[in-house]
Amino acid sequence: MQLSHREITVRLASPFRISRSTTSEATLIEVTIEAAGAVGYGEAAPQARYDESVESAQAFLDEARALLGGDPFALDGIARRLASIPGEMAAKSAVDAALYDLCGKLAGVPVWRLLGHDRLGPQTSWTVWLGDPDDMASRAAEAAPNFARLKLKLGGRDGLDVDRVRAVRAATDRPLMVDVNEYWTLDEALDSVPRLAELGVEYVEQPLPAGDEGGAALRDASPLPIYVDEDCHTLKDVAACAARAHGVNLKLTKSGGIREAVRMAHAARALGLGVMLGCMIETGLGIAAGCQVAPLCDYVDLDGNLLLAEDPWRGVEFVDGVQRPSELVGLGVVREGG
Ligand code: MG
Repeated sequence: MQLSHREITVRLASPFRISRSTTSEATLIEVTIEAAGAVGYGEAAPQARYDESVESAQAFLDEARALLGGDPFALDGIARRLASIPGEMAAKSAVDAALYDLCGKLAGVPVWRLLGHDRLGPQTSWTVWLGDPDDMASRAAEAAPNFARLKLKLGGRDGLDVDRVRAVRAATDRPLMVDVNEYWTLDEALDSVPRLAELGVEYVEQPLPAGDEGGAALRDASPLPIYVDEDCHTLKDVAACAARAHGVNLKLTKSGGIREAVRMAHAARALGLGVMLGCMIETGLGIAAGCQVAPLCDYVDLDGNLLLAEDPWRGVEFVDGVQRPSELVGLGVVREGG
């Protein structure tokens, strides 16, 4: 198999602010794998939070070339060989997606059929990035007609997080969830979560820093389900998350791809956990990979490509609030203008 990769920069329609950073563009890596006359595509969104960079991901991909072997369907063996290089989960997920795209094309079926999954998952939420309460309320009201659910980014560290939710609640009846991105202490969480419950919030994502020792106490005291994201990367994390959360947020960028995310979803079910699927700022190529796993999940937050000024890939369609994967073979995406 032949692997190549290239950097692409995508611009957001408007800057995106969360507790730890503000972003107006993102650099992604497009991965191409060729075998038996077919071409598969995948995309990496390296995460500084997890010590990844565009450079480190590209260095991994250069090393990965020699580890692929000749059979794109030998996914377990390829993953075992790639796991000999630590980290670089975003780049691993791009290889995994490109291999699934390739396998689907060679088999003549969409990836979701190859996996035996339903085509459609739940409706996606729209992410309302962190801002002042009034500003978040006006952006939420603007998005509400098009999205079935809204996910509010909190963690302002200014004592206004509950006010943010109250302002949004007054502006729309849409189901709300919040994501604190690790920015509350246990005391803040114990104080805020019951107030969010009164405002009808459905669940709270990653209120505490990953690994915070207050996780179990918050889980036991919380009137709302707690979902973890930064705490849960791969299959080996899922059991420990059951002690500190009611659900896990899977992302292909963290798991290293579709194959591990499917295993995580089943492990989470065995432990009685809820399952959510998230994404990063990605194009329609990255989101297409996420769509293949979405039917296994209770909640889906796959709005990454919808935040872009221009999406270079078409195939995933936003229909009735659902990010619907194509019925074409593989991941079913085609380059815009291609
Ligand atoms: Mg999150």
